[in-house]
Amino acid sequence: MEKVILLRYGELFLKGRNRSSFESALIDSIKRALAPYECTFCRTQNRYYVENYRHEQEGRIVGRLSEIFGLSSLSVAVKVRSEYEEMYAAALAAVPSGARTFCVRVKRADKRMDKNSMQIATEAGGYILGKRQGLGVDLFTPDCTVNIDIRENGYAYIYSGKTECAGGMPRGTAGGGMLLLSGGFDSPVAGYRMARRGMKITAVHYHSYPHTGLQARQKVLDIAKTMTRYCGDIRLIVVSFTKIQEEIHRRCDGDFMITVMRRVMVRIAERLAVANGCGALITGESLGQVASQTVAGITSTEDAVETLPVFRPLIGMDKYEIMDTAEKIGTFDISKQPYEDCCTVFLPKNPVINPKLDKARAEEAKLEGLEELIEEAIRGAEIIDYTAD
Ligand code: ATP
Ligand code: MG
Repeated sequence: MEKVILLRYGELFLKGRNRSSFESALIDSIKRALAPYECTFCRTQNRYYVENYRHEQEGRIVGRLSEIFGLSSLSVAVKVRSEYEEMYAAALAAVPSGARTFCVRVKRADKRMDKNSMQIATEAGGYILGKRQGLGVDLFTPDCTVNIDIRENGYAYIYSGKTECAGGMPRGTAGGGMLLLSGGFDSPVAGYRMARRGMKITAVHYHSYPHTGLQARQKVLDIAKTMTRYCGDIRLIVVSFTKIQEEIHRRCDGDFMITVMRRVMVRIAERLAVANGCGALITGESLGQVASQTVAGITSTEDAVETLPVFRPLIGMDKYEIMDTAEKIGTFDISKQPYEDCCTVFLPKNPVINPKLDKARAEEAKLEGLEELIEEAIRGAEIIDYTAD
């Protein structure tokens, strides 16, 4: 018996003018995900299937497909000829052993069949009832719905299960975003969420070596690599923040250190964004989570961004929701390693919670030669390109 995987995509994006480019981005993601496996991908009448795969690889293929942005769900189906006996036997086999009630839904694209959908559903239901003791029909809340999808090519696809996929928009259809990536829990999740809306992610990380160790840096490299699984290829730009941070420490009011650091971080990120074709900055800020993530704190950071929008997809999320996603995307275990981020070295005792914008600007203005420091940091940046497997 041949098995196939039926793929479903989000309806919305296929309706507009961008349909063909969205669709080709989605197909491209699917083909890349399937590349390591022996199988064929087919597309007929807006339906996507994976066929001719090795059954022992099914679990892995399904897992991989379920991570693709733009796919909403998938089902593993059995493919049989559109002969009644064959279809009914497959329908029976599709009812899991634990089910107590079931219903049958039939879609009949092949109008050459001599029975209509309703008749086929009734007959299939009768066949199943005759073979399985103790099973009942429930048309409204069945334990299991058996779908019989009769296609025009002389074959029917029969399935009962459904696996939810990642949803969102196909990779790269929303342009580029520059993610400020720390080693913490939040920013990888922020990147994931924007990638899920179709953004191609480029990341920038600031380190303060030797104040921060090589392990802290390695942690971010590992996070970027892990993120490629969902986000596709990622360019990581590693910028030394040491000199700038020392300058800030030397010249600025200690309580404003984080505020000024954030301002300089976004200044650098914005330039790197423009140079790398990104139309937005992305951060992992969540309102009220730490002292610098108050409305006033965010205002004083955003003030230093010249033109690009700053996306903060976690702004309204609770920490435990963020952790859940981190777990799901595989960054949790890396982020939980305790190495210091550059924001935690020289940390002030009382970081200002509601920085006044004028004061934030004045503190930053105390940095002499900031422009040169920024240019130097950008010149010295290290670029690491991660390719999705
Ligand atoms: P995260 O878990 O992402 O580190 P956080 O809750 O620890 O976030 P902060 O340390 O205040 O919050 O950082 C806020 C945001 O600033 C981060 O989500 C990230 O986008 C950015 N950021 C912080 N530190 C760095 C860094 N060293 N390099 C790049 N971006 C950073
Ligand atoms: Mg952090």
